[in-house]
Amino acid sequence: MASSFNFVIGSAKFIFAPIERCLNCKRNFDENMKVLQKLLKELNTVKEVIELRLSAEIHGGTMQTEEVKNWLDDVQRIKTEIEIIERKAKEKKFLSRVFLGKMVEEKVVELKAFLRKGKAFLGMVKSFKYIIVGGGVAAGYAAREFDRQGLKPGQLAIISKEAVAPYERPTLSKGYLNPNPKAAARLPEFHVCVGSGGDRLLPDWYKEKGIQLILGTEIVKVNLALKTLVSAAGEIFKFQTLIIATGSTVIRLTDFQVEGADAKNMFYLRELEDADKLVESIKMKKYGKAVIIGGGYIGLEVAAAMSINDFDVTMVYPDPWCMPRLFTPTMAAFYESYYENKGIKIIKGTVSVGFNANANGEVKGVKLKDGRVLEADIVVVGVGARPLTALFKGQLEEDKGGIKTDGFFKTSMPGVYAVGDVATFPIKLYNEMRRVEHVDHARKSAKHAVKAIKANETVLWRQCWRNFVFQRRQSIITEAKIWVLLDQRWKDCWSFP
Ligand SMILES: Cc1cc2nc3c(=O)[nH]c(=O)nc-3n(C[C@H](O)[C@H](O)[C@H](O)COP(=O)(O)OP(=O)(O)OC[C@H]3O[C@@H](n4cnc5c(N)ncnc54)[C@H](O)[C@@H]3O)c2cc1C
Repeated sequence: MASSFNFVIGSAKFIFAPIERCLNCKRNFDENMKVLQKLLKELNTVKEVIELRLSAEIHGGTMQTEEVKNWLDDVQRIKTEIEIIERKAKEKKFLSRVFLGKMVEEKVVELKAFLRKGKAFLGMVKSFKYIIVGGGVAAGYAAREFDRQGLKPGQLAIISKEAVAPYERPTLSKGYLNPNPKAAARLPEFHVCVGSGGDRLLPDWYKEKGIQLILGTEIVKVNLALKTLVSAAGEIFKFQTLIIATGSTVIRLTDFQVEGADAKNMFYLRELEDADKLVESIKMKKYGKAVIIGGGYIGLEVAAAMSINDFDVTMVYPDPWCMPRLFTPTMAAFYESYYENKGIKIIKGTVSVGFNANANGEVKGVKLKDGRVLEADIVVVGVGARPLTALFKGQLEEDKGGIKTDGFFKTSMPGVYAVGDVATFPIKLYNEMRRVEHVDHARKSAKHAVKAIKANETVLWRQCWRNFVFQRRQSIITEAKIWVLLDQRWKDCWSFP
């Protein structure tokens, strides 16, 4: 009896073991295919980031190796192989899955190793919840607002081309050019937020708050869809939310191929480095001649500063009066006569068409369109600025030369905000979209954007919490109903009349 029982069990095992093996194989196959799909998605991201970084290394760099190129070539091979497996699996449903199981298992192992190699090429990727690209006025005020609204250490990074923490930029054409060394403004005196009567945020403040100040770092490539930034040195930064605060850059006469515009001692004023070079040259060319090109606020302020520094100053601009976009002729006349009383010469209605230089390449003369040539030891050009939006071309909607935002400074891409000089936003007062190059706007737009970011997070959190509570309540109600039902059944079964 026992032997025939054992025989039955043995035969059953003999028959069912392969079936069970097949079923296990199918289960493993389905799970491995899911893993493969996930790895494939990751592979695409790593590939795109590598390509992004390669394109950032225009002048050669660590990524431009044979190994990286081979790796990129292999991505297509692997993708094709996975496509073939998927096609075969679809053709003969059950059996093919059983037989393809081993192949898929091997592919998962191969893909994991391949991905590890790809990630190693990229080195360390630095990830932050919030990144501000640009480290000027808006960045500093945004950092303070993040702190006020609640920020955990390590959540925020400011990436700036400049080597110093955010400062009040307008000082560069005012106190910074003061000839009195005791009265001249110098950092750390004018770090934000002193310009609006707030506390001065010194580099230590950022350290204390756990905000990473990544200075001397220029972002040269951006892929907003991948939420990735690449620096000139090839570092990769990932963000969840990005604030674009790249400000403006000066318009250079070399952009228009003006003859001799690359001579020495020709200056533009935008960043601290520019101001340092000008101050150095003021010391070298003491009591010299300065020609200021441009009649806007930079031209007027620098002309005054050069005059205070004992230079013989001439201003040249094409318009009929200074600050034509802001001043009426009467207002301009007041300022022009004030300047002339201080000994500043003003030449209107003409432009510079070229520059003479001496044997050392130093500027010596400014050629005007009307034929005159002005002597010059220093030339300062202030002919306007343009917003730095090139990094985001084709990725964000633009308007009036800036990045188009809504009333919360949110751009056309979710999770990406633009503030300060680069933002074109709706101004309710004029009922139109405008871009504003003004320090107060940089401060306020930064604050407003951070508040919007934080408020959005609170709304999302509330929604999650409400959904959670609502679903939980539903399930509690359902559970309670079941218990009432069971209780009723129990009573029905056991209760006696
Ligand atoms: C000399 C001067 C005087 C001024 N005076 C006045 C004034 O009296 N009143 C007034 O209202 N306005 C004034 N302005 C204008 C005012 O300063 C600007 O409107 C304001 O600074 C804009 O702030 P922002 O943060 O948008 O840009 P910015 O303050 O210009 O900051 C932009 C920052 O981004 C960095 N950056 C750019 N591209 C990159 C990149 N790819 N990677 C990393 N970092 C990058 C830049 O290096 C810079 O640090 C003045 C401007 C200048 C230059």
